[in-house]
Amino acid sequence: MTTQALLSQLYDTPETDIIEQIRSLKSELGDKVLILGHHYQREEVFAFADVTGDSLKLAQKAAETSAPYIIFCGVHFMAETADILTGDDQAVILPDLAAGCSMADMADDEQVNRCWRELSEVINPDECVTPVTYINSTASLKAFCGEHGGIVCTSGNARRILEWSWGNREKILFFPDQHLGENTALAMGIPDAEMIIWDPALPLGGNTPEAIEKAKLILWKGFCSVHQLFKPEHSDTMRKNHPGIEILAHPECSREVCETADFVGSTEMIIRHVSEAPSGTSFAIATELNLVNRLRLQFPDKPVWFLSPMVCMCSTMFRTDPQHLCAALTSIRDGDITHQITVPAQQKRWAKLSLERMLNLG
Ligand code: SF4
Repeated sequence: MTTQALLSQLYDTPETDIIEQIRSLKSELGDKVLILGHHYQREEVFAFADVTGDSLKLAQKAAETSAPYIIFCGVHFMAETADILTGDDQAVILPDLAAGCSMADMADDEQVNRCWRELSEVINPDECVTPVTYINSTASLKAFCGEHGGIVCTSGNARRILEWSWGNREKILFFPDQHLGENTALAMGIPDAEMIIWDPALPLGGNTPEAIEKAKLILWKGFCSVHQLFKPEHSDTMRKNHPGIEILAHPECSREVCETADFVGSTEMIIRHVSEAPSGTSFAIATELNLVNRLRLQFPDKPVWFLSPMVCMCSTMFRTDPQHLCAALTSIRDGDITHQITVPAQQKRWAKLSLERMLNLG
């Protein structure tokens, strides 16, 4: 049966039966399968993950596991990262191939290579620029970084990666997320005068040669469409309506939102912050809705609010539903793997180097 036919059948099956099928397939397959679940996954899928976490933690787990099959309940770049870090005898499966990331799509090979060429009209980038890619990027951009002395970062280790990068070369080209780069640099005391924005649609990214020569940090003009929905006025309203509330924000939010927050950190840091706070502390959180809802249920003694009055949910993360997870497990049981993510060998070699540089920094 094709995956499409199997999925159609599963969508006609009551969800309670699908959950039962997943449970039974998981127990039948045992250690042969490792399910990795990102914090932004919906609850029905998240509940079946063997390991849950943010991109950094899940990349570390992928690098450690010897399971022959890894089902990545997340988005495309995460499954690519897992494939880069696992052996040729291991298969990484993305349950829904359409689960992409709008931010990762904001920088492609051609644009980044053009940027490097244009920079070389002004400076020698291979001598003075470290390319740093957020893990939310394609394998080919991780390979670009590997080949050009660069590195990968996550929202959990961005500061350490920027320190390492400036320790090697005087400038950083940071892509594809402007906001993670900007918020991290501001927290490190880098002044605005030393940062420029690179707009890939404009010659020299919209900058003068003098501005490029002066810049310490070149920020790609990319963003997460989910985290951009949070606005500073949402913090004002929360503080007015809930005096004493703590505002927590993910660094993919705009600088203006992060400046209103009491704490800015990755999803793992936000979870730790809430779990370690005294009972009775209340929070308004600016990150993806599924994670915020889970925190609310997990810590009933600490009122948790969603910072925005609008629904800010990652629609591509949401694509992975119990039906797709069940289909992925079925394909492994039947020995007819579908939706496998395979990064080409040449790309894998360089991308692995940039990921290992990051993982070796701890
Ligand atoms: S929340 Fe934003 S950055 Fe994360 S996967 Fe969704 S679109 Fe991409």
